[in-house]
Amino acid sequence: MITKPKGTIDVTGNDSLLWDYVNSVVATMMSAYNYEYIRTPIFEASELFHRSVGSSSDIVKKETYDFQDKGERHITLRPEGTAGVVRSYIENKLYAEPDVKKYFYNGTMYRYERPQKGRLREFTQFGVEVLGSNDPIIDAEVISLQYRILEALHIENLQININSLGDSESRENYREALVSYLKPHLDKVCPDCQERFKTNPLRILDCKVDKDSEVIKNAPKTVDYLNKESKERFETVLKYLRFLDIDYEVNPNIVRGLDYYDHTVFEIVSLDNEETKANVLGGGGRYNKLIKELDGPESYGIGFACGIDRIIDVLKDIDLYKDVKKEIECYVMYVSEEEKLYALDIVQNLRLNGIVTETNNLNKSLKGQFKEADRLSAKYLIILNNEDLKKGLVNVKDNRTKEEEKVDIAELTEYIIGNL
Ligand code: AMP
Repeated sequence: MITKPKGTIDVTGNDSLLWDYVNSVVATMMSAYNYEYIRTPIFEASELFHRSVGSSSDIVKKETYDFQDKGERHITLRPEGTAGVVRSYIENKLYAEPDVKKYFYNGTMYRYERPQKGRLREFTQFGVEVLGSNDPIIDAEVISLQYRILEALHIENLQININSLGDSESRENYREALVSYLKPHLDKVCPDCQERFKTNPLRILDCKVDKDSEVIKNAPKTVDYLNKESKERFETVLKYLRFLDIDYEVNPNIVRGLDYYDHTVFEIVSLDNEETKANVLGGGGRYNKLIKELDGPESYGIGFACGIDRIIDVLKDIDLYKDVKKEIECYVMYVSEEEKLYALDIVQNLRLNGIVTETNNLNKSLKGQFKEADRLSAKYLIILNNEDLKKGLVNVKDNRTKEEEKVDIAELTEYIIGNL
């Protein structure tokens, strides 16, 4: 038997309903906030991720799915969504348009990680990227949108952790302070962090291994190294969040794993399953230098990404979603070949009017069809027989009250809609 690759999942049964539900809430919210759907390739030139996510990041060093295609091009399956969207923004010269560009995506990402709860090799993220504005109102919109989507999904006990890395000058000042602080303590951090110290010391702050160590707890804080402008900018973002009624916690250890962030960085966690790292449902930040870094013009960007696989894990623990079931509205029953021809037409008509309809697809007896309709919790049974059909009628049984009525075929759709 062929089995699925390690770290991947099949979404079936009730889980599919939850996935559909999450996707529809995401699409509705994105539309209300005026975000445009963007779809970029699942694979890109490897160089894109080396230059954006950063060659020294864990993702690029250890976790990407890289291969050479038949034309000997170096290709990488996307590990995250921002790089592709920014590439598209530059390549299609979308920056030449006058307005701020607000995009959302929803798609699979690939990271060669050690699979565990909430950590897959193929997973799905929805996210946004806003390009072309450095106004703190956008930082506040992006953070609040992420929160409001999770709230609309009825996820409670969420916490937003927010921090600022500041502009290039502040970041550099902080880097220097951190390096002099860490130098005498290097023997107390994990081997990966000793390596990170040389390539990107900020990453040591969000190391999964060392996160509770004294060295990390006592490290200097980014917010203390912000220059005046960066500090004011951060204060403004926080003020706007308060006006949007969004609670947050300033957390100096949020630096995010990727190279391209500056200014605002944030994560949103579910406090209900704090024991695992998988409680981080999403995160993001501002990346004002990235567009230039990828050969685009001087511009601005900010985005977030949320993991749907982790969101589904959280939803499964919420009572509201325990018994979600697809509701069949009509089940059309027939026995003879002649009745079947009528059934084809009636079923199609009901479906085209938006009524969720199923029929006998396995040549079952009438008894078998009653059983199937019950299993599907069908609300109405449309029972066809030759005699009624000749008179233009069908037998409609309300499967909850068990009442039956003869209904004119021409009025069937209206009858069902009126009674649902
Ligand atoms: P990141 O791009 O690493 O900031 O991840 C953003 C969100 O994507 C996380 O908060 C998770 O919800 C989700 N995510 C990241 N990596 C994985 C993974 N390997 N498996 C499942 N979800 C993931």
